[in-house]
Amino acid sequence: MKAVVFEEHGGVDVLQYKEVAEPKIGPNDVLIKVRAASCNYNDIWARRGMPGMRVSMPHISGSDAAGEVVEVGSEVADIKSGDEVIIYPGLSCRTCQFCANGQDTFCRQYKIWGFQTGPLDGGHAEFAKVPAFNVIPKPKGLGWEEAGSLALVLLTSWRMLVGRARIRAGDLVLVWGAAGGLGSMAVQICRIFGAQPIAVASSDEKVEFCRRLGAEHLINRKKQDVLERVREITGRRGVDVVFEHVGNATWEQSVASLKWGGTLVTCGATTGFEAPTDLRLLWNKQMNFLGSHMGNKTDLLEGLRWVESGHIKPVVSHTFPLQEAGTAQTMMENNEVMGKMVLVPES
Ligand code: NDP
Repeated sequence: MKAVVFEEHGGVDVLQYKEVAEPKIGPNDVLIKVRAASCNYNDIWARRGMPGMRVSMPHISGSDAAGEVVEVGSEVADIKSGDEVIIYPGLSCRTCQFCANGQDTFCRQYKIWGFQTGPLDGGHAEFAKVPAFNVIPKPKGLGWEEAGSLALVLLTSWRMLVGRARIRAGDLVLVWGAAGGLGSMAVQICRIFGAQPIAVASSDEKVEFCRRLGAEHLINRKKQDVLERVREITGRRGVDVVFEHVGNATWEQSVASLKWGGTLVTCGATTGFEAPTDLRLLWNKQMNFLGSHMGNKTDLLEGLRWVESGHIKPVVSHTFPLQEAGTAQTMMENNEVMGKMVLVPES
């Protein structure tokens, strides 16, 4: 089969579109013919190389995919060839205390499919293998590209806002990167819960995109002072929740934007892991700093109910043939994306 593979860390030039062996399934696995797969920032981290994380080489990225089941393992009872599915990208032992309690991401064996798996073994390929537990029926009403675009960002944003920050009606929520993959989901999730997203983005076009997603408060961070606008919008009170994933470049503004007793939830650090914090603010204003990582299958299933009812719309920014994965990654690195980038295998 054809796949996008890399054998060493580096720039997009290490990505090779080439022939590799089709995955062989085990008794509890299914084989999927990939019809669409999305790009996530973890594809970029794996390609560049991330301190503290070993990437199995050769590596196929891709933690989101939609496709048709073409083969099922001997122990798989409830999935059959021809089923149209999407993938839940969290792999864990499913027997430990944490897995049994729905806390998959605490499992010692937890891995993100297409990021921490390998050699090979991700979604940027013509065929992909996953455990039967990890397939979910394709949401009704979605095309392949939309279906392949959303699982990872939907479950992560859902967990951050619903499971961790516990947003409520009326909450003002500062959403960084609101036109990006996570942010576009976060804006829509806020709306479902009656919270008010304050969407931050870096161009007028992106700000307009956020308005169409349902954000009433909008900040163009290239033209406006974010903190000043937050003070205006909240009447100097500060926001209830900050949705963070940018890291170093925004951390201080995020902390300063919080109300007394407010909650900052973070899952990432695109611009750097150093986050200087004046601890006096933390204790005096009694703020809550929460970490969040991915989500469990229930987070995804709950989010997908709102996709099927039309309240959350997947947003596909661009679609490229699979062999152009490098172009898609470059656009993400240059912040040129609104929503998600999708790759489609030729066949
Ligand atoms: P995207 O590329 O889709 O979006 C990132 C957004 O970050 C952009 O839209 C951009 O918005 C914003 N951004 C970039 N630089 C800056 C800056 N200097 N100041 C303010 N905003 C900035 O990525 P994703 O949404 O998919 O992922 C975001 C991060 O979250 C990544 O680091 C990723 O690895 C991490 N992540 C972590 C997960 C976890 O479970 N731990 C799961 C998913 C993602 P704009 O320039 O328009 O303001």
